[in-house]
Amino acid sequence: MSIGDARNGLVLSVRQVTVAGGGDRPALCEVSFDLPAGAVLGVAGEPGSGRSTLTRVLTGDHVEHTGTVTLRPRDDGPEIVLRADTPRPSRAERLAAASPRVLDAADPVLTPRQRHADVLVIDDAPASSAAALARLRDRYGFAIVVTCTDPAALRGVADEVAVLYGGRIVEHGRAEDVWAGPHHPHTIDLFAGARSGATPASEPGCPYRARCAYRMGVCDDTDPALDLVTVGDGGTTMTACLQYDRDVPDPALLAASGRVVVPQG
Ligand code: SF4
Repeated sequence: MSIGDARNGLVLSVRQVTVAGGGDRPALCEVSFDLPAGAVLGVAGEPGSGRSTLTRVLTGDHVEHTGTVTLRPRDDGPEIVLRADTPRPSRAERLAAASPRVLDAADPVLTPRQRHADVLVIDDAPASSAAALARLRDRYGFAIVVTCTDPAALRGVADEVAVLYGGRIVEHGRAEDVWAGPHHPHTIDLFAGARSGATPASEPGCPYRARCAYRMGVCDDTDPALDLVTVGDGGTTMTACLQYDRDVPDPALLAASGRVVVPQG
């Protein structure tokens, strides 16, 4: 199931969530996504990318944030808007955290609270956890937000993949599209196993430019926003990279991806 095809039945909506960081960049910056019942969202990123901050916002670790996190129970119960001071027990009835260690077992065992949640959150899943995650989803019907370093770790179970870098989503699309042709250079690097954990370049300019093999002159001055890119079957994916700006296309990269730039009006 694609998240994009299932806007009805959302159990979790995250909108523009931002968490202050220790330096000049936020730990999490304007992160948004929707999660329908039973869907699996994989969040990939290096340590320090913001993936653990995101799971802490969701699971109630008293992380102050702006933006909204809304739970919509599967049983049509009242909507819950999560805040940093929302008590962990009240949110845990709908949204539960699980240790990645549960995925070590071929047949994972959950607590009653985890089994009855609408959303299960697992931070830092091991590389070979797709089968265990699929078993949990199929058995209990909850949606899952699972983070990992390597997006390939979730092949076969994630419906959509979001890639974090420097606290921001730099790519977000259907998992099958990300497997077939990642757009953002950081996603390409993660698939290639090129990880450094280096801190993002400071503003102005693209935060990824110091590590980017596709860097152009404009990347030193312009901080790209998440933008829609069409994929081969007419669907869309989102990426924050100036390679996909219609004014500065890279024909070789676009030809390799088999995708085209969406005209911006
Ligand atoms: S905007 Fe430029 S530096 Fe940033 S990821 Fe894209 S090509 Fe690389």
